[in-house]
Amino acid sequence: MTIADAIRAAAERLCTTSDTARLDAELLMAHVLGVSRSQLLLLRMRDDAAPHAAGFDRLVERRAAHEPVAHLLGVQEFFGLEFAVTPDTLIPRGDSETIVQAALDCTPHDACVLDMGTGSGALLLAFLHERPDAKGLGIDASAAALAVASANGQRLGLTERAQFVQANWLEAGWAHDLGRFDLVLCNPPYVESDAVLDPDVREFEPATALFAGPEGLDDYRAIVPQLGKLLVPGGVAILEIGAGQAEAVGAIASESGFAAETRRDLADRPRALILR
Ligand code: GLN
Repeated sequence: MTIADAIRAAAERLCTTSDTARLDAELLMAHVLGVSRSQLLLLRMRDDAAPHAAGFDRLVERRAAHEPVAHLLGVQEFFGLEFAVTPDTLIPRGDSETIVQAALDCTPHDACVLDMGTGSGALLLAFLHERPDAKGLGIDASAAALAVASANGQRLGLTERAQFVQANWLEAGWAHDLGRFDLVLCNPPYVESDAVLDPDVREFEPATALFAGPEGLDDYRAIVPQLGKLLVPGGVAILEIGAGQAEAVGAIASESGFAAETRRDLADRPRALILR
């Protein structure tokens, strides 16, 4: 059996689980062979799938049971960088690159950045990677997530400019001693508590990173009133928002005296609010 045959069979096995069955199969095969996806293209017609068949089949079966590819590979690409991910962190989404791009567009040089709910560290570390003069702090309520973020800081050679500290914005006094920042980034939980999510997300990603009360707004209500204390005068906060939340989060921002500008993602949906 060639590698191409094994990939084709796996893609068929996965087509009811995944919208990207073929891509998933290729990524899993590249992973078991220890090659990149482009190297995989060169190997496709080789007859050497057999020695790897057992390992590949195990991964395909886990994917068929909805385990995300990022968990099976242990990594996810985001903003052109490779991040380690575990079930303790949200898997970085392509849509969230909107936040990094907006941050790069509207932040002055030598910025000091706070990433709230940093998870894998993706937003903060992608920003710092693009801006060698910036430094930043990532906070998260989850110690396990912070360990992943620190490992990613090391992996990307950013440990001197990125610090990670445990803090929970749902607890009183959490913002004391953090200081003030030129830029605050935040991809908070914003999913409505009764939303029906894909099993890939619901069963495998941390609920604390997803759900935020009946309207998905609880975390914005906790965070936005604190932003004034966390920003230097003229500082900017960029919040990721869910589908249809621009107006409600804009209203929460306006109650705290912020003007909000909307940024759209690659699918042209409002994805970020820039607060000034
Ligand atoms: N975009 C994520 C999802 O729809 C939710 C991320 C979040 O709540 N911050 O699965």
